[in-house]
Amino acid sequence: MKKKELSILLSKLKKFENPNPFLEQYPTDPEIASSVLWFIDSKDGFSGRVVADFGSGAGVLGIGALVLDAKKCYFVDVDKAVFPLLKENLKFVEKCCGRKFNYVFVNKDVRQFASKVDLVVQNPPFGVQNPHVDRLFLLKAMESSPLVYSFHKSESSSFISKLCKDNGFDSVLCLKFKFPVRNAMKFHSKKVHFVDVGLWRLGSRE
Ligand code: SAH
Repeated sequence: MKKKELSILLSKLKKFENPNPFLEQYPTDPEIASSVLWFIDSKDGFSGRVVADFGSGAGVLGIGALVLDAKKCYFVDVDKAVFPLLKENLKFVEKCCGRKFNYVFVNKDVRQFASKVDLVVQNPPFGVQNPHVDRLFLLKAMESSPLVYSFHKSESSSFISKLCKDNGFDSVLCLKFKFPVRNAMKFHSKKVHFVDVGLWRLGSRE
């Protein structure tokens, strides 16, 4: 599969029907998701790895990881409403790819996730509505896996470096994006606004 084909496939996935502002349910743009997944695959490789998608929503990141040959994916989300959507998306992509994927749904707060994985990929809430939720996701990701790819607001850079250092991880800002945030919530005025977002790679020092 080519990067463009992955992006087209991911653009066909269903998104949140009634996004919950408190849970910061903003889907990753499919083109950005495909660039990021392509980058991760070329740098570290999904093949044979057990992955967790924390705050999976409708699953664009974890589904992309499975398409790129991840061995298994845990989809973790606190909102039970995302799982029927996720199921539909997985069935659709399995049909397109002509193979079955290995996945587990975990309808829990990310803090309750108890398995160990090889790689976490996450676009967590940025902590705008619910302060410090990004910190919870980062801490759980570092506890669950030696390798983490995580999206955050660009302005969170120094907070991320410090948190990682204190937890025995190196952090590198790999990619930068203008994240399109669509007018899905009542309190947004413009149709689309753009947020400066980065993708960080966190690697355990051990
Ligand atoms: N990963 C998806 C969705 C990102 S939006 C994508 O990239 O498109 C953030 C997701 O985190 C939402 O689905 C929301 O329900 C979930 N979430 C928010 N707080 C959470 C928590 N404490 N534990 C688990 N999931 C949470």
